[in-house]
Amino acid sequence: MRYTEVKTVDDLFGPGAPAGTVPTDLEQSTGLERLEILGKMESVDVFDMRPLDASRLGTLSNPVLVRSAGEEQFAGCTGVPADSHNVIWLGMTRERPVERCPECGSVYKMEYVGPQEDHHHDHGHGHGHGWQEPKTMADYVKPEYW
Ligand SMILES: [Zn+2]
Repeated sequence: MRYTEVKTVDDLFGPGAPAGTVPTDLEQSTGLERLEILGKMESVDVFDMRPLDASRLGTLSNPVLVRSAGEEQFAGCTGVPADSHNVIWLGMTRERPVERCPECGSVYKMEYVGPQEDHHHDHGHGHGHGWQEPKTMADYVKPEYW
């Protein structure tokens, strides 16, 4: 069974190992543990809200990176060390990737790890608030090499 086929709680209980064989972790596991293993088999991180790197305080020059494959990512800061203050949710986007926790001042930066889209075919489908991708040298160089 694949991770994407998990529809109900019943699906999370393994069939058990066939008689005479040594059960694997997957066959023995149930519930959330089974869902997590199935997810790992499909390279899906089921528990997306991983604990942040709370071993240091992020700074503007060296922010704590938060990997995201989406347009936006929320990070829950609890200070350094972890749980120093009540969780404060910081929302980062690809357009504004840097956020600073108002409680402890730790700086987080969303690191986009998703697929790169081609902005040249994306006009008119943006987010509608006038944001323009900053011009870089690559934008001037590209056409000559394409
Ligand atoms: Zn904080």
